[in-house]
This record gives sequence, C-alpha cells and structure tokens, in this order.
Amino acid sequence: MKALARFDDIHSHSRRGPAVVTNLPYGEEITTAPGEAWYSVGFHPWDTARSMPDMEYLRRVASDPRVVAVGEAGIDRLRGADADTQREVFRCQAILAEEVGKPLIIHCVRAWDDIMALRRQLKPAVEWIIHGFRGGAPQAAQLLRAGFMLSLGERHAPQAELFIPDERRYRETD
Ligand SMILES: [Zn+2]
Repeated sequence: MKALARFDDIHSHSRRGPAVVTNLPYGEEITTAPGEAWYSVGFHPWDTARSMPDMEYLRRVASDPRVVAVGEAGIDRLRGADADTQREVFRCQAILAEEVGKPLIIHCVRAWDDIMALRRQLKPAVEWIIHGFRGGAPQAAQLLRAGFMLSLGERHAPQAELFIPDERRYRETD
C-alpha cells in the first residue's frame, strides 16, 4: 500500500485540502486545524545557494502529525550550491525522513547517479518519491528497479505513464 495513497495530489505549492499534500514554505509554521490540510516540509536544493537548513526546525515540524512527508529535498546540478553541499543537505533530510517514518519527496535535476548511490547507501524503509518525473520508459524502468516511487505532474511523458504500475505512481500539480 502506497504511503500517500489517500492523496490525489501529493505535491503542490499552492493547493490545499484533505486530498492534497501542500508544500509548507521553509521556515513557516502550520496554522490549519488537524484534518483540514496536510503538508510536506523540507529544504529545497535551490535554497542551498543562499543558506543551509535549520535541522532543528525541520525535525520539529516534520514530527507534526499534519505533516505526511519530508521534502521537497534533492539535488539540482543546474542551480543551488555545489554538488557536495547539496548531497550533504539531501542526506540529512533523507535521514530525517527515516527518523520520522515519512516518505521523502525528491527534486532531482541531472543528479540521478547521486540520488541512486545515496539510496543504495542509506537503504531507506520509507518511500523515496521522485517528484515531477518527466523521463521516458527506460528511465522509469531503471528507477522502479532501484525502488523509487514516481510522481507525475502535467508535463510527464505519456509512454512513461503507461509503463509505471499504479502502486508505484503518484500524481501531483506542483
Ligand atoms: Zn515543487
């Protein structure tokens, strides 16, 4: 059973509601009543260009029952800090996801080798969900074999959609 099966939109920066996982802007606190909205909390790789995450804040908010996932977190080779810094920031959040037992929502741009190597190293029990997956069937096959879940937004490849079994696939609006 998928950890986020009850949501028909697992990643949105703007929508909010009982079937949506809303990305809480980093640094903000949750103000909605329990059951009204659900969240993910993380430190986006682009933000590593300016600062480093406060892991105390992330740990506290990620432990809130209104938070159902950690992220988005990840590695982006085109934006943000250097690769070593991004890997380390991602690793810390992957460990946090494991500690709180909630899936990890991943932003990955041209860093598939890194993300796959980290998955082999950390052997997570929680789901690692590639958000906004736009690759084709061969890449989907590789990621599914490696154990990832794939989340499709509006701009996904139609042949990948047919290829990914329902129990490994999520939907999102981003
Ligand atoms: Zn996003």
